[in-house]
Amino acid sequence: MLDIERIWKDFPILGHTVYDKPLVYFDNAATTQKPKEVVEKIRDNYYNVNANIHRGVHFLSQAATEAHEEARREVQRFLNARHAHEIIFTRGTTEAINLIASSFTDACMSPGDEVIISEMEHHSNIVPWQIQAARKGIALKVIPITEKGELSLETYRNLFSERTRLVSVAHVSNVLGTINPVKEIIEIAHQHNVPVLLDGAQAVPHTKVDVQDLDVEFYAFSAHKIYGPTGIGVLYGKEEWLDKLPPYQGGGEMIATVTFGKTVFNELPFKFEAGTPDYIGSTALAEALRYVNRLGIEEIAAYEHELLRYATERIKTIHPIRIFGEAPHKSGVLSFLLGDIHHYDTGMLLDHMGIAVRTGHHCAQPLMKALGVEGTVRASFAFYNTKAEIDTFIAGLERVQSMFKPK
Ligand code: PLP
Repeated sequence: MLDIERIWKDFPILGHTVYDKPLVYFDNAATTQKPKEVVEKIRDNYYNVNANIHRGVHFLSQAATEAHEEARREVQRFLNARHAHEIIFTRGTTEAINLIASSFTDACMSPGDEVIISEMEHHSNIVPWQIQAARKGIALKVIPITEKGELSLETYRNLFSERTRLVSVAHVSNVLGTINPVKEIIEIAHQHNVPVLLDGAQAVPHTKVDVQDLDVEFYAFSAHKIYGPTGIGVLYGKEEWLDKLPPYQGGGEMIATVTFGKTVFNELPFKFEAGTPDYIGSTALAEALRYVNRLGIEEIAAYEHELLRYATERIKTIHPIRIFGEAPHKSGVLSFLLGDIHHYDTGMLLDHMGIAVRTGHHCAQPLMKALGVEGTVRASFAFYNTKAEIDTFIAGLERVQSMFKPK
């Protein structure tokens, strides 16, 4: 069981007030709060271990290099990757997907070749492919969602053709909370000899991810969504695939030798890490992963599941309410509309009660179109949230509703 009172002491921001009301932070799918350890790690690194890494012969540079490479090994263990050099540090999920979209298209796709994505993707797993479609003439095929907000696997099976080269889908939807059956999705793709990229931005903070067990070719996530710092993320790739792909960016770090005639690229993982890496962010991410490991990802998942169950049960007592995403396997995301009250109005009024939720299209406009709405209100939970906060939130929604009742 998680000791929430103790956990709260690790996250000073949770004790803040907003408009003189205790903060209720339900915007965790956008970004999570950071435990003291993570913030302290950043401070400590700048004060004590700051020097540019990899090429320095001096003490500080070697210490910083070792800390950065140990952070890579922490990520490797967290994802259960076979090799540390299969972990590429990026700026986040978005950059990781752009890297694959660019390098994979260059190496493995010809005009007319196809990528399968889904209707529930974040823009960061749509637009990079559209850019490649415009550059290289590749085509996108889209898995539709069902009424409950699940992927239609029947349609998915039928989307494969001779020209399918990659499947790129979300592990967990940031709007619907649906945990997609990624093992099955990967198995089906492999039956067609097609590799898979999973967007794990909303999965890693809430569910155990084992890339070897999944047998997935590429996996992307962002540190800031798993209690780590902003500006850094991870691309996991199977060694044999990363070896096949050309670099995404050129510059320092990613080369072995350079002459004006020819450049020989560095080995993995450096081939994909041009420029000075975020060696402060990487160690802070490792600290965040250690924090999550100490609590236990299974415990976190079970606790958040109970929060979601409770919030869903309570919100259904409000009429009229529309919930978007009712898949049996869901992470702690609750998207809804309160009658015909505009999502911005609900969000702004809740904000004045100290309750932070997200409103709008959640960077998933094609999904909004499929749902037939312009936007939703989204409450998203983390392990530091409580049922008492959910009660405050439900009372807040009831107040919003009463404000819109005709007098
Ligand atoms: N994919 C999903 C499912 C997300 O929820 C997000 C962020 O909300 C992203 C990708 C993009 O993450 P980032 O902005 O950290 O690159």
